[in-house]
Amino acid sequence: MARRGIRLYGDPVLRTRGLPVDPTSGSTRDLVADLFDTMYDAGGVGLAACQIGVSARVFVLDCSALLPGSPKLAVINPEVQWVKRPEPGEEGCLSFPDLYLHVSRPVEACAEFDTPEGTRQTLKASGLLARAFLHELDHLNGVLFVDHQSAARRLLLSPRLGRFRRRFRRGEFA
Ligand code: ZN
Repeated sequence: MARRGIRLYGDPVLRTRGLPVDPTSGSTRDLVADLFDTMYDAGGVGLAACQIGVSARVFVLDCSALLPGSPKLAVINPEVQWVKRPEPGEEGCLSFPDLYLHVSRPVEACAEFDTPEGTRQTLKASGLLARAFLHELDHLNGVLFVDHQSAARRLLLSPRLGRFRRRFRRGEFA
């Protein structure tokens, strides 16, 4: 399929709640293919549909570059069953180029989701995979990793966030 432009912070699509999709439709298959192409091209480990401008409950994940043997996942209409053990850890986000933040997030999680084959899959994840899964899941609800920062920390970040917003207004992509 195709590499799509990655939306920068400031784009309102990043704040929209994604809609459930038919996991086996042609448009979902094309969306998943574009997400993988765009994520690998950008060197990321996860990418959500809103980050390429589509308000859908779909994301892709492949942490194998950091965690050998980690699965390549297309996650559609996910529902979290439970989460445990919040821990601080460093995160980046393709919609915030070169910004890395410490985020407290559960590092054990269990979730169910649809696959592109139309089956329902259950995933129990820990460590980086759980963190990446929950980061992407946040995107489907319009939540961004900066939202997990304290008010004081967000104030310190505001000049950098302003630069992302200006780049978005100029029509740039990440
Ligand atoms: Zn992100």
